[in-house]
Amino acid sequence: MHSAHLNPPSPADDAPSVLAWTHRLTQLGPQFFTRLQPTPLAAPRWAARNQALRAELGWPAEIFDDDHLQALAGNARMVGSDPLATVYSGHQFGQWAGQLGDGRAIWLGEAASKQGPQEIQLKGAGRTPYSRGGDGRAVLRSSIREYLCSEAMHGLGIPTTRALSLVASPEPVRREEIETAAVVARVAPSFLRFGHFEHFSAQGDTDSLRTLADHAVAHHLPECRERAALWQGNVYAALLDEVQERTAKLLAQWQAVGFCHGVMNTDNMSLLGLTIDYGPFQFMDGFDPAHICNHSDHQGRYAYGRQPNVAYWNLYCLAQALAPLIDDHDMTLQVLEGYKTLFPRYLGDAMRAKLGLVGDLPPESEREADWTLVEDLMQFMASEKVDFTLFWRELSQAVAQPSPTDVAAPARWSRITDLVLDRPRLLDWLARYTTRAGADNLPAMGKHMLRTNPKFVLRNHLAEVAIRQAKAGDFSEIGTLYNLLQSPYDEHPGFEAYAALPPDWAGQLEISCSS
Ligand code: AMP
Ligand code: MG
Repeated sequence: MHSAHLNPPSPADDAPSVLAWTHRLTQLGPQFFTRLQPTPLAAPRWAARNQALRAELGWPAEIFDDDHLQALAGNARMVGSDPLATVYSGHQFGQWAGQLGDGRAIWLGEAASKQGPQEIQLKGAGRTPYSRGGDGRAVLRSSIREYLCSEAMHGLGIPTTRALSLVASPEPVRREEIETAAVVARVAPSFLRFGHFEHFSAQGDTDSLRTLADHAVAHHLPECRERAALWQGNVYAALLDEVQERTAKLLAQWQAVGFCHGVMNTDNMSLLGLTIDYGPFQFMDGFDPAHICNHSDHQGRYAYGRQPNVAYWNLYCLAQALAPLIDDHDMTLQVLEGYKTLFPRYLGDAMRAKLGLVGDLPPESEREADWTLVEDLMQFMASEKVDFTLFWRELSQAVAQPSPTDVAAPARWSRITDLVLDRPRLLDWLARYTTRAGADNLPAMGKHMLRTNPKFVLRNHLAEVAIRQAKAGDFSEIGTLYNLLQSPYDEHPGFEAYAALPPDWAGQLEISCSS
């Protein structure tokens, strides 16, 4: 149990309160967190302010004024906030890692919003009792990536933590080289991770485990109460089931958009099924199921194609953690079995949507035939290492063309056949696809596909350009990317270069865990 106050606040450092705070987490008891103050950050400067999120949440414009620059940098305390770091544990790269916790993310509390209470964390705001030798800081490079990618995911319709602001500082931070510090203020209904539950379970502290699970159900996942009817009234089995369903859905969405998380440790898995902890993530360029985006992941444990199974492995860890509460071995196993049908169903639906095969679900046999169509295309794409995002977008454009009469004419498909070597094989597949779809349906399907297959994703090289310019003091490219990624399905005339194949130098980018 910790109660240390690092850097006690001085009242002169208070920023006025523009948010209405609640602190349901702090009511759980001191075993869950340590109160502390952020470490002051030298000469903070706005690098990005997310006005769209601010408006969505109904927060006042003052949240981005000078007082709040200090507050969101960790230099002043927002009146009514209650800064703390939470404790969690977890499995990292398949091994039990013991206690981890918020090593650099400082939780300010829950603020009322138009979307319900939102927790706010300052990531990179200094050391905590859980820093384990780390400096408690985050570098500008990784903070830009987190800021932009969480907003990119949101723009794609994928559940994620959000980023409210990005504050940069000249303060040096040592990584492979000396970089500078930044703080992202991130927002989510809850930052609870699988690891929070693993922590108390591993300690044999079933009372705290139950307190946490009850808190999660009461405030964040109330639908579990209804779902308990499926599990003989067992609300903890329902909790596992709910998290499993959200996770299966999330993974289907990641796979469908070619997103590789990179560090799917159980402490980086959100209980609410949000994408959380953006590190060495990557939207794939050339399609390769074995693609590893984390340069430090030598075994490829978190390769793109393995993510769905890793999520299942992580759910198994959550099940082990919740086992003392569920208190029914067979039922726990039965809940876990669900993933094996849930994930393929969500992925199947997501891939059918990418092909424009929407509307009433066809009978099972046709769904299987559709899945074969998907698998054959994916195998082909992998054999060509074709650019994932570009291929789907060009396919959508080709399908969307108004005239359904020329489906057999290679000219209709030339923009996608131009992307591959084996054109006859692709034309064969396209013939099967148009037969399945019905030529008359293509234009309407294509319209849907253009809202399903994004034109813009946060490719590594795009983030890299924004990072290089920001390091030189120019934050404008962050704003440009933010605008594109907010509406990634729109055409954005004049910004074609942002949707083009990556330049040669992109292949040399190595994204490590260091952040
Ligand atoms: P990650 O792999 O980024 O999810 O981090 C794993 C654990 O290390 C978490 O408990 C983080 O809070 C902690 N951590 C990562 N980087 C730092 C840092 N620079 N200072 C303190 N703790 C850190
Ligand atoms: Mg983490």
